[in-house]
Amino acid sequence: MQSGTVRGQDRPAGWHVEAVTTDSPDQAEIRELTRSILADRAPDDRVARLDESETFDEEFYRHLGAAGLIGLDADPAAGADADPRHEIVVLEELGAGHTSMAVCLVVQYMALRLLSHYGGDDQRKRVLVPLAEGRGRAAFALSEEDGGTDIARAMRTKAVRDGAGWVLTGRKTWISGAATAGHAIVLARTSEEIRSAIDGITMFLVPLDADGISVRVLDTAGIHGLDTCEVTFDDVRLDDSTVLGEAGAGFRQVIGTLNGERLNAAAVALGIARGALRSAIEYASQRQAFGRSIGSFQALQHGLVDGAVQVESARGLLTRAAEAAHAGDGRSEALSAMAKVAAADAATDITDTGMRVMGGAGYSREYPMQRYFRDARLYTFAPLTNEMLRNFIGERWLGLPRSY
Ligand SMILES: Cc1cc2nc3c(=O)[nH]c(=O)nc-3n(C[C@H](O)[C@H](O)[C@H](O)COP(=O)(O)OP(=O)(O)OC[C@H]3O[C@@H](n4cnc5c(N)ncnc54)[C@H](O)[C@@H]3O)c2cc1C
Repeated sequence: MQSGTVRGQDRPAGWHVEAVTTDSPDQAEIRELTRSILADRAPDDRVARLDESETFDEEFYRHLGAAGLIGLDADPAAGADADPRHEIVVLEELGAGHTSMAVCLVVQYMALRLLSHYGGDDQRKRVLVPLAEGRGRAAFALSEEDGGTDIARAMRTKAVRDGAGWVLTGRKTWISGAATAGHAIVLARTSEEIRSAIDGITMFLVPLDADGISVRVLDTAGIHGLDTCEVTFDDVRLDDSTVLGEAGAGFRQVIGTLNGERLNAAAVALGIARGALRSAIEYASQRQAFGRSIGSFQALQHGLVDGAVQVESARGLLTRAAEAAHAGDGRSEALSAMAKVAAADAATDITDTGMRVMGGAGYSREYPMQRYFRDARLYTFAPLTNEMLRNFIGERWLGLPRSY
């Protein structure tokens, strides 16, 4: 039923978009491993079924963990992060072949980074190590109903001191994977006195089965293979050991890891763009009109070619941003923002082209294009909106006055 998406093993002749020439030997190895797991464990009809039934692919997640693709080369015991140049390869491949799983991994990679930088010995042992091995999952709960972009000002979730512990109340919204994760990293306001844009907020590592927590799955347009949730905290009692990092400095700590999340979101968007481009080209090569394949019409070819240009451009930027992040070059923040904007724009443009190239078939759930089209929207606004990233690039790359 499904037109094929992305499987490295069966490249059509003349198709170069998946042959990534910039890979280092390590990246090439990780890419091939991810592709072979996708080919073996996530055929298109399985991914489509999971999307239709809105089910998380637990089995596939465990395989990723067993293959070492979640912890990658991180050393949780030593607090050392995985190489960002490796994370983006896994995520590009999953973005193309199993998008909801890629979104799940963006959250896991972020949780691993936060736990590895700020987790105490006990938090690392109990949560970080199983996470790195694919035996557990965490959600990341920052956004609230009153604001995602300006969340520090809009945040109403608070934790109040109570003896040796805390009482957490409030509600987080749009939280990926909270219905299926064991823990959530929750940001809550813990001080009104030092209420500034970013101070007075604390990170907590909260077990999601604690008394007073309720999780409601939200109905979203895309990413149906991963639950998106509202999480309510109703006088949840937490002991001091749940504080992650320094009390009052949680938002600053998160900002320090956002660069990695931007890079990783860009990698998933790039994968969506690439998967959709391949689907569109396969369809255009087979579909006949006026006695020839529709892919032979120049009007359609130009749209597909523009898509290929966007994929290669976004990957070039992403590679440069990941190299800068690895080298500790401060410019990586603006480069990652550029890569995320470029990849998100590529994904929305190419899925739109794909829908047009496929005519009525693009609209059909028999084909993956509509899924790519729905899923691509996520990275136009998450984890940060493209408008905010453009604001940031204006300030940090062009030296323009801050616009927000
Ligand atoms: C499927 C899904 C999964 C998600 N997963 C998570 C998760 O796991 N954890 C989590 O914490 N959050 C998650 N989010 C939330 C996501 O990060 C937010 O949706 C995002 O940060 C945008 O916030 P918002 O939706 O409140 O938009 P708003 O902040 O209300 O923004 C609305 C519009 O205003 C624009 N805008 C605001 N300020 C400016 C400005 N200064 N200049 C220009 N434009 C501006 C924005 O760009 C946007 O276009 C998820 C969301 C979805 C839908």
